[in-house]
Amino acid sequence: MFKKASNDYWENTWRQELATQSTMKCLQVQHPVVDNPHNLWKSTRPKKHEVQRAEIKARLITGTFILQTNAMKYNKSEVSATCKLCGSDNETKEHLLGSCSALSQIREENITRLKDILSDDNIFTTITQDSGMLIQIILDCTHSSLKDHVILSREQETDIERWSQAYCERLITHRAQIIRSK
Ligand SMILES: [Zn+2]
Repeated sequence: MFKKASNDYWENTWRQELATQSTMKCLQVQHPVVDNPHNLWKSTRPKKHEVQRAEIKARLITGTFILQTNAMKYNKSEVSATCKLCGSDNETKEHLLGSCSALSQIREENITRLKDILSDDNIFTTITQDSGMLIQIILDCTHSSLKDHVILSREQETDIERWSQAYCERLITHRAQIIRSK
């Protein structure tokens, strides 16, 4: 019941956002939408912790997870867009997921799992050498822009989605720990 309501909420939010915002380009919208939830929700089992992870991921995709760049947009002069973790770049979702130097250890620890799921070293290398492609596979591995480079089985799509949700959760948890300790 909760899962169904959650699906409807996010599918509606995504469709509205896609119509107006360039930040949503990373998201593949389902056709048809009815009874065909996005891979993010299809891969999420109805367990509390998994649903929480899926929500974190959904908020990152939609830009409703407050990173420094969003915080700055809402509070213009008072907040800096600079990443509080590394201090060397603006904190966008791309920075958080793919390039923040303060999170490089977590990134390295987690990326091996993606390599296992893909089980093709050439495809893994192609994806990880292109930061745009890597971010895309983390945010939404079902996106049509990836089809020229990698054909994923249904099982791989599920595994990558579950992996990415756990990865995002670890990044966000570590980020909060660093910020709290400063
Ligand atoms: Zn950073």
